[in-house]
Amino acid sequence: MNDDVRRVMKVVDRPPVVMVEGRGSWLWDRDGKKYLDFVQGWAVNCLGHSPRVILDALEAQARRLINCSPAYHNEPMARLATLLADSTGLSDVFLCNSGAEANEGAIKLARKWGARHRGGAFEIVTMQHGFHGRTLATMAASGKPGWGTLFEPKVPGFPKVPLGDLEAVKKAVTPATVAVMLEPIQGEAGVIPATDDWLRDLRRLTRQLGVLMIVDEIQTGIGRTGRLFAYEHAGIDPDIVTLGKGLGGGVPIAALVAAESASCFEYGDQGGTFNGTPLMAAVGCAVVETVRDPRFLDAVAANGHYLMERLRTLSTELGHGEVRGRGLLVALELNECDAAKVARAAFDRGLLVNAPRPATLRFMPSLTVSRDEIDQMVELLRASLKHE
Ligand SMILES: *Cc1c(COP(=O)(O)O)cnc(C)c1O
Repeated sequence: MNDDVRRVMKVVDRPPVVMVEGRGSWLWDRDGKKYLDFVQGWAVNCLGHSPRVILDALEAQARRLINCSPAYHNEPMARLATLLADSTGLSDVFLCNSGAEANEGAIKLARKWGARHRGGAFEIVTMQHGFHGRTLATMAASGKPGWGTLFEPKVPGFPKVPLGDLEAVKKAVTPATVAVMLEPIQGEAGVIPATDDWLRDLRRLTRQLGVLMIVDEIQTGIGRTGRLFAYEHAGIDPDIVTLGKGLGGGVPIAALVAAESASCFEYGDQGGTFNGTPLMAAVGCAVVETVRDPRFLDAVAANGHYLMERLRTLSTELGHGEVRGRGLLVALELNECDAAKVARAAFDRGLLVNAPRPATLRFMPSLTVSRDEIDQMVELLRASLKHE
């Protein structure tokens, strides 16, 4: 029945269905089965499936200019760079196509900065269990268990410390260090937050030691936690911020944003065929303009509280564990239960949830999800957990 998919390279164990249509929080497969989507392309479709603002931006821009080569400025590129600089308080924006590419750019920028300002230093202190992407350098920067020996030889220069351990960072920073790089909430690790206090301490420490602070907001940025960027909860100013996922609301666009003091690329150091194409940048503008509205962000925070409360009640009822997260990036810890199996059972019942760890479920609905959809999700999840 799904014979047409056999030429698709098997890089992930996909269920035997083919998705054909999406609207808001709902997705349909080719057989007409409907799914309530609490994965949303891994926290990508922040306005849900096929929202009007994205359709309008795509159509208007496609009629005007789709691509003109990164050798020239274009209007949406300029507009999105200005929006991101204004909303971060940082100075320069490089637009690219994926989170890994944004982080790869951040690593290159930090190494360039080290070559210029720190005597050729190039090491970047990174976090155990962190996730920064799947290129060779971003895999080396990640602390994902099992990745240590993949695709040898590894890109060198990424010593690891535990998230939240300031003493370990102090010890790891040497004259060879240029930066500390981290996610404010480790998403792939199972929604593990760095505390606001620790982020402030780390900001102070990196300033004292004269190294850069790189914050990977690819999963947590663009409203996911109820603020436009998760680092805002801690009130810190990073030197470099990377964005992806939600920035395009479903289309591939990502960004590397740097403070003036860190922004040291020279002509020829960085680039890419598709960087800042008008079509994708126009969508990025529409998404950021929608999400940065304080009323929109307040609703994300309120619905996040509602989701967490509903999950806590369910967890108590069924004897499961902790519910944690911020805004609409939420995890539920399961008790003596295989999360991947639960996610498969939920799939069969028409609910998409993700299992980032063996006993952890993760919820990343559209930022526009309704209370009614949250209630429906909890009912489907209850049934899936009871029968697992
Ligand atoms: C998804 C993710 C990335 C990688 O983004 P891609 O677009 O898949 O390359 C990097 N960092 C974090 C925190 C992510 O969640």
